[in-house]
Amino acid sequence: MKIGVLAVQGDVIEHRAILRRLGVADVEVRLPGDLAGVDGLILPGGESTTIGKLMVRYGLDRAIPEQVRRGMALYGTCAGMILMARRAAGGEPPMLRLMDITVIRNAYGRQVDSFETDLDVPVFGPPPLRAVFIRAPVMDQAGPGVEVLASLDGRPVLAREGRLLVSSFHPELAPDDRVHRYFLDVIRADT
Ligand code: GLN
Repeated sequence: MKIGVLAVQGDVIEHRAILRRLGVADVEVRLPGDLAGVDGLILPGGESTTIGKLMVRYGLDRAIPEQVRRGMALYGTCAGMILMARRAAGGEPPMLRLMDITVIRNAYGRQVDSFETDLDVPVFGPPPLRAVFIRAPVMDQAGPGVEVLASLDGRPVLAREGRLLVSSFHPELAPDDRVHRYFLDVIRADT
């Protein structure tokens, strides 16, 4: 199995460190050619406007959906989740629009309103998952095909639609690799 990490901006190193710890081959993706042989791609957090514009510049806005149609799985954290959403309130960056969710950018407030919390994730079981929210988006609506895996204050913060996985928070910043392992399970499930 080979996992790519979109490496145009954002916290790329942290995701790669977890993948390496899990013993998975990983590759930085900057250009469409880097997607060759990639079974799953992580879109890291950062600034969705910046990442979206760079995706367009490098042709990844077309290459990524094309690979998803061929079976590549996608996991978007925070800004990555915004890029995967079909609709975004609060200013739309260039987006992939692959997942049937609506997000509201910066819905938890400004940088100083960033926070950490413990989330109950029924598919993981105990203990709760430590989750870091940094100027995070919230998921406002989710289509019928979207499975909500965890919520905070009644709003989904971890969700899956087939081979697409998103989280409002940054699992790569906490010492818990269960979300990454879950993503690997999603990939293994139907390959
Ligand atoms: N606020 C950022 C955005 O709207 C996302 C922040 C993050 O990825 N931590 O793109």
